[in-house]
Amino acid sequence: MSSTRHAEIAGAGFAGLTVATALAQRGWSVRLHEKGTELREQGAGIVLFGNSLKVLESLGVIDEINEGSMTPPFYETRMQNVIVSDEDMPGVWWRTLTRPFLHKVLSEAARHAGVEIATGSEVIGATESGTLRVRGGEELEADLVVGADGVASAVRDSLGIRYDRWNAKDGITRFLVPRRKEDLQRIEPDTEWDNVIDFWNLEPRVLRVLYTPANARELYIALMAPSDDKEGSATPTINLDVWTSIHPQLRPVLEEATKIDGKYFRYQTNRLEQWTKGRVALIGDAAHAMAPALAQGGGCAMMNAFTLATAATAADPADLPDALVEWERLERPFTERCQDRSQEYASTRGMSQGGQFVGDNLETALYDPTDPNRHLAQV
Ligand SMILES: Cc1cc2nc3c(=O)[nH]c(=O)nc-3n(C[C@H](O)[C@H](O)[C@H](O)COP(=O)(O)OP(=O)(O)OC[C@H]3O[C@@H](n4cnc5c(N)ncnc54)[C@H](O)[C@@H]3O)c2cc1C
Repeated sequence: MSSTRHAEIAGAGFAGLTVATALAQRGWSVRLHEKGTELREQGAGIVLFGNSLKVLESLGVIDEINEGSMTPPFYETRMQNVIVSDEDMPGVWWRTLTRPFLHKVLSEAARHAGVEIATGSEVIGATESGTLRVRGGEELEADLVVGADGVASAVRDSLGIRYDRWNAKDGITRFLVPRRKEDLQRIEPDTEWDNVIDFWNLEPRVLRVLYTPANARELYIALMAPSDDKEGSATPTINLDVWTSIHPQLRPVLEEATKIDGKYFRYQTNRLEQWTKGRVALIGDAAHAMAPALAQGGGCAMMNAFTLATAATAADPADLPDALVEWERLERPFTERCQDRSQEYASTRGMSQGGQFVGDNLETALYDPTDPNRHLAQV
């Protein structure tokens, strides 16, 4: 009889790839199911903070991440094009990068660690005794089953886990476009176009552009508009006249965005009654989707994926369900406080006042999920 423990994981997003790699690196045999026919991330850009960068460091991919990402000099917030804050976040580790790049690095790490990746494999449910059910009828037994299958999680719903959900009044359309830095500089020579610039505009209408350089060549722009603003939320092609009427200095990159089919995405927060049931654990958006105000949904997904892998590995196999409950007890409060702060910002549009990366708002960014002593004060 083999003593190798086995995990079946649903969903190859940032959460699933992270937990798969961390488990495989700790000696587990791991199969990762992705319903898409290929392994890829379709999103645009992402901001990561120390909590997830520590995880990437522990997975052994931080050099590669550093090469393909950047830390902008400042996180600048503007209201009606007047600078309200320039935050350089001393002592905070943060990077901006593209999602396809992060996904590629994590996919390669998973393969390198020996994870078996099954694409075109749609998970339809799980049982608390540790079975993953795949469309087509297969029932796969595992010591640990992980639902990392996103906000519409089939694993979560098949277990009957109840949850509350809040939709934000605003939504975002995201693009990766060429930087066009020289063109932008010609329009506004005094602007530092390497900064993240959060261009808020509340009057005469709410139209916000989050401008995030992701590397030397690529720019991530996120266009936020209320869901009841038909013109502002128009997709697949953005309404260039509307967006340039409010943000004329961004014309070169907004024009680039019109060449790409966009998808308006209304973000949500979900709060589950429990993250685990028997041998099944839920992570990432399946467990704790959140508004993007503090840029931590993916960060929390990766840190909870990593701590799940370490907790499951440390557990006696027979006691795994109890170990999962304890993992949730210790880790969940950090994520929920981050969700609450992000939801508050999303409902009040409070980020428009700038200066948000201070005090308690940095709790998650400064959390180190790789520190084995992190809960000493909490236990
Ligand atoms: C506008 C916006 C901006 C954001 N910005 C940031 C940011 O800057 N920083 C940050 O950290 N986070 C950010 N986030 C949050 C972040 O994008 C998510 O929290 C993160 O991507 C969640 O990862 P995940 O792996 O849990 O889920 P997903 O990315 O949804 O991955 C789930 C995977 O599971 C697959 N899947 C789904 N169902 C099944 C099934 N039944 N069977 C098999 N496979 C399945 C999907 O195809 C997908 O590959 C932002 C979110 C939004 C909306």
